[in-house]
Amino acid sequence: MDQHAAPSRVNSDLQLRMKVAACTLILVREKIMGYSGHVSIRLPGREAFLIQPIDVPRSGLRPGDLLVCDYDGKVLEGPEGQRPPAEVSLHGEILRARADVNSVAHFHHDLTNSFTLVEDVPLKVVKNHAIRWKSGIPVHPDPAHVANGELGRAVVKTLGEHYALQIRAHGQVICAESVEAVLNDSIHFVENAQAMYHAAVLGKLKPLSDEDIASFEKYFQRGRHINKLWDFYLDGARTDGTVPKDWEI
Ligand SMILES: [Zn+2]
Repeated sequence: MDQHAAPSRVNSDLQLRMKVAACTLILVREKIMGYSGHVSIRLPGREAFLIQPIDVPRSGLRPGDLLVCDYDGKVLEGPEGQRPPAEVSLHGEILRARADVNSVAHFHHDLTNSFTLVEDVPLKVVKNHAIRWKSGIPVHPDPAHVANGELGRAVVKTLGEHYALQIRAHGQVICAESVEAVLNDSIHFVENAQAMYHAAVLGKLKPLSDEDIASFEKYFQRGRHINKLWDFYLDGARTDGTVPKDWEI
């Protein structure tokens, strides 16, 4: 890659593609995403987004594999013969409905799912970085694959103004302003679920109070933290070869 090339739309698109691929590879490396799930990013100035095809393994995703889809899930650009994932409408309908969201991650993490499989133990904000979800973590009652626009709009309705939701007995949906932020939030969402699970083994749960949340929020710098977490996980993934070292992201 020519490091001296002037910034251009082409480079910008390539960088977004690298970020979506790297985010996916890191989520697989962290065992948050498995053989299914996907990350999307809205393309600047377009009613369209990048998302991976249905049949490319998450563990080997590359920038050139990604499709450009419109909000209806129709493929606008991409490698010949590739189809979008079965749940592309989940991404399209959220990006259509929420101007404050640019990137969506969807995965199927078993331990996090377990909070939707029992009565009266909803996932709560127990760790400091889970303040992102202080407004609530809704549970979408229909476990179906989000296989069309109607099902996607139903998820959007459950999501409301929140930044994450659980789909009962199915998986997680994380909404953020950028790919870096969606990686940050995906990791913290699962960490919070793991922390709550482990704490419940020790004793009576003590979720963060409104006062606790306000105290942590007072000195918290979200942008700085997102960059710190992105650099940490990207460095680890580059070191062990999960993400190619020459991806300039
Ligand atoms: Zn799913």
